[in-house]
Amino acid sequence: MVLDLRELIASPGKGLDYEFELDSSDLDLDGVLRYLTPVTVTGRVENHAGHIETRFRISAELICQCARCLKEFPKQLRMEGAAYLTEELEDEDNEDYYLIVDGAADLTEAARDHIILNFEPRLLCREDCLGLCPKCGKDLNEGPCGCGEDLDPRLLALGQLLEK
Ligand SMILES: [Zn+2]
Ligand SMILES: [Zn+2]
Repeated sequence: MVLDLRELIASPGKGLDYEFELDSSDLDLDGVLRYLTPVTVTGRVENHAGHIETRFRISAELICQCARCLKEFPKQLRMEGAAYLTEELEDEDNEDYYLIVDGAADLTEAARDHIILNFEPRLLCREDCLGLCPKCGKDLNEGPCGCGEDLDPRLLALGQLLEK
């Protein structure tokens, strides 16, 4: 969403609320299979003595795939972010700064960058998911498969190391 900030820029101390939906097809997130709801961004831009700053919340309901056991599970995406909006970029490399062009800023870009940079790289259905047996493929969350007994313990240890 491109937000017109001309009035805000001229009024230090003032704020402006906004809300928009992010196009989830622009988000290529590892492990996310489907979006059950739109990705909603609600936020506020404030002018602090000439510094334009925005804070926002991102929320969505997702269906994800566990990186270990490959099961599908629901997940609530909840994130909070902030960005600075500026009419002149002094340091091109600063990721938290977004340009105000002709008095307007593209807040979609700030929200999308925040999600992509902060999204968990490896989604698990639960912290201690046991995953699948590398030998028979059984879901070890449902109980041991019996392969473990004749697996070389050195190989098992190596497997655990590789996973980290
Ligand atoms: Zn799992
Ligand atoms: Zn097995």
